[in-house]
Amino acid sequence: MDAGLCDHCQHVKKIINSRGSTFYLCLLSQSDERFRKYPQLPMVECPGYQPQPNENQS
Ligand code: SF4
Repeated sequence: MDAGLCDHCQHVKKIINSRGSTFYLCLLSQSDERFRKYPQLPMVECPGYQPQPNENQS
């Protein structure tokens, strides 16, 4: 699944259940009500998006 911005945001926590499905939990939702706990994907634009620190390394 293409999660868009959430896929490489430092505020995401990916949760894989016992069936192998991946859920994207937005950690900003715990402190900011603008963000949904489980964002609607794919995320194309988000005010909270911050790339993961290692995003430019490869
Ligand atoms: S801040 Fe935005 S892009 Fe980042 S995990 Fe939350 S919803 Fe996704």
